[in-house]
Amino acid sequence: MAINEFEAQAFHWLVDMLESVEVGLVVLDLDFRVQAWNGFMENHSGITASKTRNQVLFELFPDIPEAWLRRKVDAVTLLNTRAFTSWEQRPYLFQFRNTRPITGTEEYMFQNLTISPLSGSTGQVEKICIMVYDVTDIATGKRALERANEQLAKLSKTDRLTGLLNRGTWENLVDAEFERFRRYGHITSLVMFDIDFFKKVNDSHGHLAGDEVIKHTAKTTRDCLRSSDSIGRYGGEEFGIILPETDAEGARIICERIREAIEQSVVQTTMAPIRYTISVGISQLSGSPENHMAWMQQADEALYAAKKGGRNRVVVYENPEPPVSG
Ligand code: GH3
Ligand code: MG
Ligand code: MG
Repeated sequence: MAINEFEAQAFHWLVDMLESVEVGLVVLDLDFRVQAWNGFMENHSGITASKTRNQVLFELFPDIPEAWLRRKVDAVTLLNTRAFTSWEQRPYLFQFRNTRPITGTEEYMFQNLTISPLSGSTGQVEKICIMVYDVTDIATGKRALERANEQLAKLSKTDRLTGLLNRGTWENLVDAEFERFRRYGHITSLVMFDIDFFKKVNDSHGHLAGDEVIKHTAKTTRDCLRSSDSIGRYGGEEFGIILPETDAEGARIICERIREAIEQSVVQTTMAPIRYTISVGISQLSGSPENHMAWMQQADEALYAAKKGGRNRVVVYENPEPPVSG
C-alpha cells in the first residue's frame, strides 16, 4: 500500500528533526553495525553518515570500551527495556572534543547515554538506539563545585599561616585520642610548645618577620614528625602535637630533635636573620585524667615548668605520687 502525501511529508520533517536535534542518535544492528548516524554524531566525530553505514562501531572507534558496551546492549536486548548511564559512571562513550567556549576547562565532552531497544513488526528486538546527551556544562559545574567544597573543607580545618591543623580541629583530635586511650589503653603522648621571647621578635623586627618565624616553626616541626603524628597551631606562637604509640621517653627524643633543629636554624626573614628557641612540655597519658582538657593541662604545666626552668628545654610532666594508703 502506497503511503499518502501527508504521511510522506510527516516522515520527511521527522527525519529532518532527528538530523538536527542536539542529541546524538546512533542505530546499531545486533552485530553493532551502524544503521543510522545523525547530524550531531557527524558534527562531533567528523565522520559522515555514509562512511559509518554498516561499519562495526568498534572498528570505527577503537577507543570505545567494547566489553562494557556489549554488556549494556545484551541486557537491553534480553530484557527489551531501556538502559541509562551517567557521566559519573563513565565520563563519555565517544571521545569527542569539548567545543563549548564557556566550559573550555574540560578536554572532552561529558555524555549521558540512553540505550533503547528497537523492535521489529514481530516484537523481537532487532536494533539498538544509542542516544548521546552532551552534559559537559553540568559535569563541569558539578566538578568545579566539588573542588571548591574540598578546598573549603580543607581551609576550615587548617590554619592559614602555617597550613597546620587549626585549634578546633586539633583539639577534636586530642579528644578522639583520649577516647581511644580510654578504650584500648594504647600508649600516647601529648606535646605543647611555645616560642621563647616571641614578643621581642615582633618588637624588634615587626609582625611580618614574626609570621615568618611562626611558619619556620611549623615546617621544622613537621619535618621531624611521622605522618601519624598530628600537629596543630594552638594559639599565636603555641603549638600542640599528638604522638600516638609513643611514651614520654620517645616523645622526649622527638621533642629534643625539634628543639635542637630550631635552636640551630637561622630564619632569613626580609627584615633580618633571626635565631630563636622554643620551650616544650610533654605529658604521656596514664592514670585517669578526667578528660582531654585535663591531659592538655598536664602538658601545659610541663611547658610552664620549661619556661620557668630557663626556656629552650623539654620537660616531661610527672604524675604526682599517689597518696600512700596505710
Ligand atoms: P615566653 O618566652 O614567655 O613565651 O615569652 P613571649 O614573648 O613569647 O610571650 P608570649 O608567649 O605571651 O607572647 C606571645 C606573643 O605572640 C604575643 C603576640 O603579639 C604574638 N603573636 C601571637 N600571634 C601572632 C601571630 O600570628 N603573628 C605574630 N607575628 N605574632 C603573634
Ligand atoms: Mg612565647
Ligand atoms: Mg605564648
